[in-house]
Amino acid sequence: MIGTDVRKDSIRVLRNIGEARAKQFKRLGIETVADLLWFFPRAYEDWSRPLTFAEAPRDAAVTVKARVILPPASRRVSGGKIVTRATVFDGEAPGRLVFFNNPYVEKQLKTGETYLFYGKVTDDVDHPQMLSPRFLPDTGADALHAVYPLTAGLTSRIISSAVRAALERYKDALPEALPEEIRRRYRLPGIGDALRLIHFPESYEDVAAAKRRLIYEELLILQLGLARAADDSALSPAYPIPPGGEKALIAALPFALTGAQTRAVSECLADMAGTRPMRRLLQGDVGSGKTAVAAALIAAVTSAGRQSVLMAPTEVLARQHYHTLCGFFAGAQTRIALLTGSTPAAARREVLSALAAGQIDLLVGTHAVIGEHVHFKDLALAVTDEQHRFGVAQRAALREKGNSPHVLVMSATPIPRTLSLIIYGDLSISVLDEKPAGRTPVKTYAVGTDLHPRIYAFLRRQMDEGKQAFIVCPLALKKEEDEEEAGETLIAPSFWAAPPSDPPPPPVSEDLPPALPDLPSSRMFTAPGPRVSAEGLYETLKDTVFGGYPTGLLHGKMKAKEKDAVMRAFAEGKLRLLISTTVIEVGVDVPNANVIVIENAECFGLSQLHQLRGRTGRGADESYCILVSDAKGENARQRMETMTHVNDGFVIAEEDLKLRGPGDFFGERQSGLPLMKIAGQMGDARILYTAAEDAKKIIAADPDLSEPHHALLKESVGNLFADIS
Ligand code: ADP
Ligand code: MG
Repeated sequence: MIGTDVRKDSIRVLRNIGEARAKQFKRLGIETVADLLWFFPRAYEDWSRPLTFAEAPRDAAVTVKARVILPPASRRVSGGKIVTRATVFDGEAPGRLVFFNNPYVEKQLKTGETYLFYGKVTDDVDHPQMLSPRFLPDTGADALHAVYPLTAGLTSRIISSAVRAALERYKDALPEALPEEIRRRYRLPGIGDALRLIHFPESYEDVAAAKRRLIYEELLILQLGLARAADDSALSPAYPIPPGGEKALIAALPFALTGAQTRAVSECLADMAGTRPMRRLLQGDVGSGKTAVAAALIAAVTSAGRQSVLMAPTEVLARQHYHTLCGFFAGAQTRIALLTGSTPAAARREVLSALAAGQIDLLVGTHAVIGEHVHFKDLALAVTDEQHRFGVAQRAALREKGNSPHVLVMSATPIPRTLSLIIYGDLSISVLDEKPAGRTPVKTYAVGTDLHPRIYAFLRRQMDEGKQAFIVCPLALKKEEDEEEAGETLIAPSFWAAPPSDPPPPPVSEDLPPALPDLPSSRMFTAPGPRVSAEGLYETLKDTVFGGYPTGLLHGKMKAKEKDAVMRAFAEGKLRLLISTTVIEVGVDVPNANVIVIENAECFGLSQLHQLRGRTGRGADESYCILVSDAKGENARQRMETMTHVNDGFVIAEEDLKLRGPGDFFGERQSGLPLMKIAGQMGDARILYTAAEDAKKIIAADPDLSEPHHALLKESVGNLFADIS
């Protein structure tokens, strides 16, 4: 039977996809044919312009066309690796191919045949060589090859062939959501062409045309969804909260509110005084004091005799807030309870019944607070912290816990105002653009990997003085390092394995120097170095360089319980050093941690680096952020440069927008918005502004999207926002 509905049909209908394959696809989140067709390449390899070894640049992957002249031969080298070498001739000169643990190439590469080899060319003593190139028989006509995000077992070639089968079978049944008038206005390709061009382009122009359409479509649907979410005419009225009830709490705080905090509180209270539910985003750089703003609003609600809830994305953060708020409200009669996934059953029952009876004024917790059995008596205010971890749907679930409570979402992701007006189309915005007085900016240094011994000595010294430190890595697991280009993993940072005194670390001054010092650069690293994993670094350092310093490991691939346990141990000071991925980015407040080292800093965007840096600088002591990178690229250097000079998150966000385009704001760790599949690849904000304008016009003319030519758009909006939970 020919399938007709890409959104419902399972990929099992495609030839060659059996149960085992389907399982592998499922791990990539691909179940339906639509999932497959909308699974976009993350990059392309250009196989269309083969070079000779002599022509090939040494720093980028290229295609070399060459004939096999000496057959591949394998041998085992020390360490147990099998190395297979073959000699080829590119028409002008010979070159060598080297493969690791892949003796099958002996059968695949036939002597006398010509192939296209794709990889990086380096120079060995006698010949140019390619490490672990991929190859195809030279058929004369090759183009761009899509590279997909992969999971074990699936290669880009397998994904491509499944996509090809799907496009063939469904070519007449692809949903064209964009009205023809819009497609014509912007000269956008139809959906069938766009999908074909994005998966099987012949040139980068093809890719650009396809992306323009797919990105526009995705953003238009997002904007339509947000515009509809902003329509609250169907909601029941909120409890009005008279201002004034917050005054006693503010007076009792151990500090005076900043001007920005005072302004934000009154903006919120002005909203909350009415029966129209507040829907406000509180944006404030890390450490700007968002919690105190929330506390003031909660105090106003409590004085009015109503309930509040504060939801945090992790157990660690929920506990942290609970303790902070118990402190703020210490002198008041406010009854505060904590509810998380690990609250014991008996305590949980007690909290739930007290909550329903109105005996609790403020509930603090994790997702548990939107659980099915949680009922409030009269919930008037719902606050979510670090909202970019929450979906729009979860916010909605929270809202439904009460009689349309006022909603405040707090975010530390500084987004340029122009962008946030669009991205948070359904929210009004308050900004904390002023830091509490007396904060000293975190001292930030950009150094090369040759300074590792000094950095480690510096960390030990700080820890000896009772401080705590973070080391952040771009990868979680060692095995991800292996998936890196073979040529790079070969360059092992071998001294990490050596005990700290061998060779003795060079003497260290009290402070690290602000710029790259004039030291001989390391033999062991090339630029940019291999990306390190938290797991790998943890294993090499914990009993050597940091033997005697309790060290923890934290990354997103660990179970939630383990993560929370490690985080708690660090927060309580039982662990002195935490080696982690960017999971520590959100909200963690450990004032005693005053140093953060960021490995492979070139892998992170400016805003992300700034977030990470914000984990320090929370206590009274001098804090340090050390960015470690050997990257020489202009863009990377500029980011390091900006970080060492700029401390203001909003300035950083503007810089980030300039350097990277707006697409990044739709990335993974994003925003509480539905996950964008391709808008993250947007290079220019104009497409976002255009989509926002168009969405407004469409909604103005057809608020329910009920006209026939909007039917598919409406369905897409529903799908996009239904996906998130
Ligand atoms: P964030 O906005 O990152 O969530 P927090 O609410 O955690 O910031 O506040 C950071 C720290 O600053 C807390 O220790 C808090 O008590 C303190 N703080 C908040 N407001 C002020 C203020 N006006 N003056 C001094 N310290 C403040
Ligand atoms: Mg916070």
